[in-house]
Amino acid sequence: MRTILTDHPLVAHKLTTLRDERTDSPTFRLLVDELVTLLAYEATRDIAVAPVTISTPVAATVGMRMAQPRPVVVPILRAGLGMLEGMTKLLPTAEIGFLGMIRDESTLEASTYADRLPTDLSGRQVFLLDPMLATGGTLIMAIDLVLARGARDVTAVCILAAPEGIEAVDAAVAGRIPSITLVTAAIDERLNDIGYIVPGLGDAGDRLYGVV
Ligand code: URA
Repeated sequence: MRTILTDHPLVAHKLTTLRDERTDSPTFRLLVDELVTLLAYEATRDIAVAPVTISTPVAATVGMRMAQPRPVVVPILRAGLGMLEGMTKLLPTAEIGFLGMIRDESTLEASTYADRLPTDLSGRQVFLLDPMLATGGTLIMAIDLVLARGARDVTAVCILAAPEGIEAVDAAVAGRIPSITLVTAAIDERLNDIGYIVPGLGDAGDRLYGVV
């Protein structure tokens, strides 16, 4: 798996406020939105484009337009939903699918409770949105699902990643597909014994939406 770690002072600045336990939900949501737009710039570096001839008011010229079929952006519910706006700001024409996945907090096993994705993803570039790559269980399950539907170009956008999660995803996808990329704002130290990223930012879903 190719891992892209963004190295930008604005990302570091926003991430620090995001991590701060004093940051309230409205500010947290705004920062996630801004951070994801910055990550999206990196994540879309290899977006498929095709040449197109247009006329400016002065002359004909050849430019680039995003190619068909449209990319698919997939927020993994619940916390990935907070990343959708930030991503679609840069990719307004993308199709949007939804995956509902939940982690059992005692076993740390992920399971799928909602699947609104096209049944055929062949030829589509897929962007999976999940703020926290912790054990990797959720992301591995999401990658397996989109690969089973024919996707061969998958980019995961995660705000934070743990080394254990990156290793687990790496091991799960090794040698399986031509292109899988992780774009993240930071690789933290480790997971703690209840599967939280350290230092992390706590429960991303709770910080976005409150405890429900
Ligand atoms: N999910 C979260 O929301 N936070 C973590 O630290 C790990 C998984």
